[in-house]
Amino acid sequence: MFFKTIKNTTASIATIAICIVSLSILTFSLQEHEKLYFESVKGDLDALSENMSSDLVPLLAFKPDEFELTTMLLRLDRYDNVKFGVIYDKDFRQLQSYHGNSFSNSDVVITPDLKLLEEEPLGVYVKNGDLVALKLIGDKRLPLGYLLIVHDSSGPLSKSKHNLLKQVLPLTLLLLAVVIAVLFWIQGRLFLPLSRLSILAQKIQTTHDYSLKIDIRGKQEVVSLSQDLNLMMQTINQETQKNKEYTERLMEQQKKMERLANFDGLTGLPNRQFFMETLRLELAKAKRSKTNLVLMYFDLDGFKGVNDSLGHETGDQLLIDVSKRTQKFLREGDLISRLGGDEFLVLLHNDPNDLLLSDIAERIVKGLSEPFEINSWQVQVSVSVGIAKAFDSNFNLSEFVSNADFAMYRSKLAGRNTHTVFIPEMMEDNKRKLLIANSISHAIKNDEFTLFYQPKVSPEEKIVGYEALLRWTNDTLGMVSPAEFIPIAEQSGKVQIITKWVLERLCKDFAKIKESIDPNIVISVNLSAQDIKSKSLTSFVKSLFTQYAINPHSIEFEVTESAYLENFDMANTFFTEMKKLGISIALDDFGTGYSSLGYLTQLHLNTLKIDKQFVDNLLISERSTLITKTIIEMAKQLNLKICAEGVETRDQFDFLVENGCHQLQGYLFSKPICLEDVLKFKL
Ligand code: C2E
Ligand code: CA
Ligand code: CA
Repeated sequence: MFFKTIKNTTASIATIAICIVSLSILTFSLQEHEKLYFESVKGDLDALSENMSSDLVPLLAFKPDEFELTTMLLRLDRYDNVKFGVIYDKDFRQLQSYHGNSFSNSDVVITPDLKLLEEEPLGVYVKNGDLVALKLIGDKRLPLGYLLIVHDSSGPLSKSKHNLLKQVLPLTLLLLAVVIAVLFWIQGRLFLPLSRLSILAQKIQTTHDYSLKIDIRGKQEVVSLSQDLNLMMQTINQETQKNKEYTERLMEQQKKMERLANFDGLTGLPNRQFFMETLRLELAKAKRSKTNLVLMYFDLDGFKGVNDSLGHETGDQLLIDVSKRTQKFLREGDLISRLGGDEFLVLLHNDPNDLLLSDIAERIVKGLSEPFEINSWQVQVSVSVGIAKAFDSNFNLSEFVSNADFAMYRSKLAGRNTHTVFIPEMMEDNKRKLLIANSISHAIKNDEFTLFYQPKVSPEEKIVGYEALLRWTNDTLGMVSPAEFIPIAEQSGKVQIITKWVLERLCKDFAKIKESIDPNIVISVNLSAQDIKSKSLTSFVKSLFTQYAINPHSIEFEVTESAYLENFDMANTFFTEMKKLGISIALDDFGTGYSSLGYLTQLHLNTLKIDKQFVDNLLISERSTLITKTIIEMAKQLNLKICAEGVETRDQFDFLVENGCHQLQGYLFSKPICLEDVLKFKL
C-alpha cells in the first residue's frame, strides 16, 4: 500500500540510498581512523623503544644493575596502554620486566617462548591485536640485549573509535534527518501539481463540469501536462456542449413527435391514444390496490348544428373554448382528453365521493351551458355527461369506457344538459339493444325481415289502402317488434338500410297487391327522422319507382310530427320533392307531441293520423273525445284527410265515421298480415 505511490517509492529509495551512503562513509572513516591511529601509535612506540634501547646500551655494556634497569622500565609508566616491557640479554634471558599499570593484574604472559622470540623480527609490528616493539640493544655485530614492549592497541582503538562515533554520530543522524526531511519536502513540492491534477480529475468526475481549468506553476513536465490537460478538457467541454445541444434538439423533436402522437392538434388536450394508454395503466394500478376510478364521458348537444349553421371555424373555436372552460371545473390531477369530434373524456383523480362527483358533473353541465362568445356570435350548447366507475366494469378498459358512454347516452335520452351515473342494471337492457343493433345488417342479408300490411278502410268499410309494417324474426332474439328495433336502428344509424329494404320489398309486392285488390290503392310506408335527413333517399326513391314502374300517387309516407318538426327545414325540402313526384304525406301519431297546432299550415301534408291513444279513449274520456272531434274539425278546415288508427270497436268506428273521419285502421278490420294473406283477404 505504502509503495503504491510514486512519491513514497522514490522517497523510500532515496532515504535508503542516503542511509547506505552515510553508513559507507562512516565505515570508511572508521577504517581510516584505525589506520591513522595505528600509524601514530606505531611511530610513538617506535621512537620510545628506540630511545629506550639506546639508553639501555650503557647499562647493558657493563654488569647490569637491576635498579637501573627497573628505573629505565618505569619510563613506560607514563604510557597507559603499555601491557608490559621486558629487557633481555643477548641470549634472550629475561633481565628485568615491567607490567603496565592497567595490566598488572591480568594474566599477561610476559615470558614468551625464547625460541619463538628468537624467530621474531626486529622492529614494530602488530601481533594478535597488540603492537609489539622488539628492539636490539647495542649493535648488530655486538648485541647486548633486547627490549620488548607490548602495547595494547585493541582497547584504546575501540575507545578512540567509540569517542569518534560519539562525536560524529549525533551530527550525522541529525544531518540525515534534515536531508530526509528536505527530501520529503522537495518531493512534496514536486508532486503537489500531480495531486492537484488528481483532485481536479476527481472533482470533474463528481460534478461533470468540464469547464474546470487548472493553473499549475512548477516543473516543465507538470506545466505542459497541465496545459495538455486543460486543452483536453476544453475539447471535451466543446464536444459535451455540442452533444448537449444535439441531445436537446433530439429531445425537442421527440417531444414534438410525442405531442403529435399523443395530443390533439386543435385543443392541445391529450388525444384518444394517450388517454387510453394512461387509463390502461391507471386501471391496472387501481385493480392491484383495489381502488375505484371514475370516468366522465361527455359530448356537446347540438354541436353539429353549430358546425352546419356557423361554419367549421366557429365549430373548432367552440371546441377549443369548451376544452378551456371545462378545465376550470376540474381539479388538479384530473385528466381530460378529446376523443375526437365533440366527445371528451375525463379521468377523475382520487375516486371522489358521490356528492363531489355530482358537484363536478353539474359544474361542467352548468358551466358549458353558458353562452360562448365566438367571432361576435353568441354560441350556446349544452352538454350530456355520463359517469362510470371502474368497479362496475371489473377494471376492463373497453367496458369502463363504454359504460361511461352509455351513461352519457342515457343523459341524452333524459332530455340532455344533465349527467347520469352508470349502474350495472342499465346494462342488461343495453345488452339486448346492442345485440339488436348488431344483428340488423345481418338480418337484412339473411332475409329475416318480412313486410306485413294492415288495411285502411273507408267509412263504407272498403279497403282503400294498406300500411306497410315491418316484422322481424331472429333465431336468438325471436320475434322482435318494430316498436323495439326501429328506435334502436335510428340510434345506431341503421334505419336507412331498413327503409331502403322496406321500399324495395314494397315495390316488389306492389304489382300483386294492386292487381288483386284495387288499382287506386295507396300503400303507406313509415319513415323516421334519419330518412328525412338523408340526402340519398330522394334519388333512391326516384330510381326505385322508375325501376319497378310504381305510380307515386299510390304511395304515402308516414312521418311522426316530432320527426318532422325537429328537422323542420330538411323535412320540408324532402317532402316538397316527394310531393312533386306525387307521393302523399301523412302526419303519424298526431296529437301526442306538439301542443301548438299553428305550425300545421306550414307543413306539406295530405293526411293527419289520429293517434291510437285518443281512439282508445273515445267515449270513455271526455277529453279524448273532445280532442278527437277538434282534430277532425281542424283537419277539415285545413283541407287535410283524417285517418284514425287503432280502431278496435264498432262504437269507435261509428263515432269516427259520424264525425267525418275519412279512413280507419285497426284490429276491428284486420291486424297487419303477410302478403299471401293480403292477396286472399276479403272484408
Ligand atoms: P305506427 O306507425 O304507429 O304503427 C301502428 C302500430 O299500431 C303498428 O304496430 C300496428 O300493428 C299497431 N296497430 C294497428 N291497429 C291496432 C289496433 O287496433 N290495436 C293495437 N293494439 N295495435 C294496433 P307495429 O306494427 O308493432 O309497429 C310499431 C311501430 O313501429 C309503428 O307505429 C311504426 O312507428 C314502427 N314501424 C313499423 N314498421 C316500420 C317501418 O317499416 N319503418 C319505420 N320507420 N317504422 C316502422
Ligand atoms: Ca304509422
Ligand atoms: Ca301511428
